[in-house]
Order: sequence, then structure tokens, then C-alpha cells
Amino acid sequence: MSQPSSPRRPNPPLRPPQPIAIPVVPARAPGQAPRGAAPAAPTVPAQAGVLVALPPLSLYVHLPWCLRKCPYCDFNSHESAPPNAALQTRYRQSLVRDLEAALPQIWGRTVHSVFIGGGTPSLFEPEQVEALLADIRARLRLEPACEITLEANPGTFEAQRFAAYAKAGVTRLSVGVQSFNDRALAALGRVHDGAQALAALQEAAASFETWNLDLMYALPGQALEDLERDLEAALALRPPHLSVYHLTIEPNTRFALQPPPHLPDDDAAYGMLDHIIKRTTAAGLVRYEVSAFSRPGHRCIHNLNYWRFGDYLGIGAGAHSKLSFPDRLVRQVRWREPRAYMEAAEGEQAVSNETLIAVDDRPFEFMLNGLRLIDGVSLRDFYERTGLNAAVLEPALRRAVVEGLLVQDGLHVQPSARGLDFLSDLQALFLPA
Ligand code: SF4
Repeated sequence: MSQPSSPRRPNPPLRPPQPIAIPVVPARAPGQAPRGAAPAAPTVPAQAGVLVALPPLSLYVHLPWCLRKCPYCDFNSHESAPPNAALQTRYRQSLVRDLEAALPQIWGRTVHSVFIGGGTPSLFEPEQVEALLADIRARLRLEPACEITLEANPGTFEAQRFAAYAKAGVTRLSVGVQSFNDRALAALGRVHDGAQALAALQEAAASFETWNLDLMYALPGQALEDLERDLEAALALRPPHLSVYHLTIEPNTRFALQPPPHLPDDDAAYGMLDHIIKRTTAAGLVRYEVSAFSRPGHRCIHNLNYWRFGDYLGIGAGAHSKLSFPDRLVRQVRWREPRAYMEAAEGEQAVSNETLIAVDDRPFEFMLNGLRLIDGVSLRDFYERTGLNAAVLEPALRRAVVEGLLVQDGLHVQPSARGLDFLSDLQALFLPA
């Protein structure tokens, strides 16, 4: 995952809806807490929606170019020859201007993680990445053990650069492989083949203590045996972290205009997901988010902050930010087109759009990502990050517990196995009335 965009309404359910038998809930005595409600909601803020503390802060940096636009991709990526040294330098200087203009919004705050995403950031030379990290460190206080991730793609000359990125200060590499099958890679419009994917991952493993491998499933023409071969190749490398995404057809992509033939149907895709969970578990990986699996100590700190409704400043073309202030929560988007972005950033006008997150929308926004976490979320975090008493969640929590979608233990809520299968239904319970 490179960066969350503005929150979307829930996707279609992961499994087809089935009739739900709703058990009768015993009547409550006056003053008695409902089953499934927070037993002791934290203190109500003086004013609903006012924060008593700021959440952890991350930095996202977007590098927007790719050698070829993949037909399924709805990220802000722009097809281009590799940016030359002059363009890399100009873009980096624009990022610095953008960051400097944003500093008053995050004065005094420590940054817990940095994620350089794209696009294909590994098109940038290690010297540029090193200079960028020095620029960032000169302007922001990074936590001593700050996780610094860089996204990379196999298929060009990037793999030889991986050791140099580590030397430049990158601590974690995320490699977008998607498959090892040449036929599947061609159907996905990827620029690399299976052998190049393998070589890139071996290089990543040699250069980084922690790294991620991205795979996709439910690919055009993919059978369970094909997926098994991809998993076998991936797991043989003992990745510290694995992300496995269902291929989805997003609006405004080439696949939306011309869907690929022979996509696995829903039943086949559910079977594939079950197989992925079984194989990764047997290999010692723990599923901690709907699409993310890791070995102990290798969870992605940056993505966890997104899922827990933390703050992030996003700089670069089309980058999204979510920032908290005591009296308001805001989302920002920067200009999407790289050249328009550079000109705007040079004039300290990189932000193209800023919106407030309405108080009524905060419960849904918090739960939309939080319920993707297998361990669930804390209602204390809900209180701190939305400024709202957990009591506002009571009707939705109660219904989710009654429908068997959620388990509640005091101030902790966790999706049940059924809730993960019907995640969109669970998330939708928290939509504003
Ligand atoms: S390489 Fe990644 S960011 Fe670039 S077009 Fe393909 S999917 Fe999108």
C-alpha cells in the first residue's frame, strides 16, 4: 500500500451477503451498560470533537513516475522515461519547498515513519534519495529508530541500486512483484518478468533486514495451482513481510474501460484467499491486517499509523495528508500532475484542496481502516483521535456484536472471523445516519 486516498465508501463484501439470524438481546435494566458497549467510556472532552492529544505523525513522499502505466493502477503515477538528473534535482527541491511551507502545521512534532512511495521511487538515483533524506532530517525531528521505507519495482536497473539505498538511510524496501508467472505479469502490463522479480527480491534480502514483497491474486486466467506456485516462490525467500492484494478493477483505469478476460469468479477468489491464509500461517507469517502478513517484529509501522487513524503529512505530486489540530481534523491533496505540482510548490502553493473532516464523519473514518486490523482497535484511541466519546459508537457497536461481526472486550473491539468475511457490511454500520 502506498498511501490511502480520501476514505472510500466500503467496497462490496468480501463474501456474498447471507441472511443473518439476529439473536434477541435481553432488555437492559435502567443504567445498565448494553452488551458490547464500552463499559467505561473515557472522559467526555469539554467540547465534542476537540482533541486532548495529537496522534503519531508520519511523512509520506510521493515520486510520481513509472516506466509504464499498469492497466489496473489508479495511483497518481505518470508514464515516463526515467527522470534525468536535472529533473530529479528539481523535483527534490520542490519537495523541500513543499515541506518547508507545511512545517507550521506540524511544529514540534516527532515523525515516526517515512514512506517514499509512487510511482516507482526506485527510478530515482540513490544519491537523490540520500540528499532527500538529509533535507528531511534537517527540517523534521525523526524518531531515532524511524522506519524509512522505499518502494521499488523489479525490471529495470533498480535492483543493483538496493544496497546503495540502504547506505543512503532507507531501512525497509517494499518490492512490487505481483506475480512470478510471466503470463500473469504480461496480462498485468508489468515491465518485469518472473526471473527479474526473483533477482530483485534476492537483492532486497541481501541489502535489508526488513523488506516487503507485494503479490496480487485473482489475476486474469489464474487457477489455484498458479497462485500456489507464486506463494511457493515468495515464501521460499522467507520475506519478513508479505502483502497480498486481490486484483480489483478500479474506475479510471484501462482495465475499467476494457476488463481483462478470464478473471476468477468470487467463489474462486474466496478459495484463493483461504489458501493464502493457510500457506502464510504454515510459513510462520501472521496476518495482522486484511492484506498484510508479517513475521514478529516486522509489521509496517507506517501503514499501521494509517490504519489507526494517525496523522500523515504527504508531500509530492497528488500526495494526501491527514492532519489533526486541537479544534479540527483536515485532509489535504497536492496538485497531481508532476509539472504543475513543481511550479505550485516553488510558489509555496502545493496544496490544491483542503477539507475539514466533519465531526459526524469521524466514527466511520476511524472504523473504516481500524477494522481492517485483525487485532482490532482501542476505543481509547478512538476518543483521543476523533475527540468523541466512545458512547457515540454504541448503537453501531451493539448491532455489530449482535450480528456476530465484532467482539468487544472492555475498551477493545475486534472484527470476528465473520466480520472479516463481511468487512464492508461491518464498516457500513458506522456510516453517519
Ligand atoms: S508500477 Fe505501481 S505505481 Fe506504477 S503504474 Fe504500475 S502499479 Fe501503478
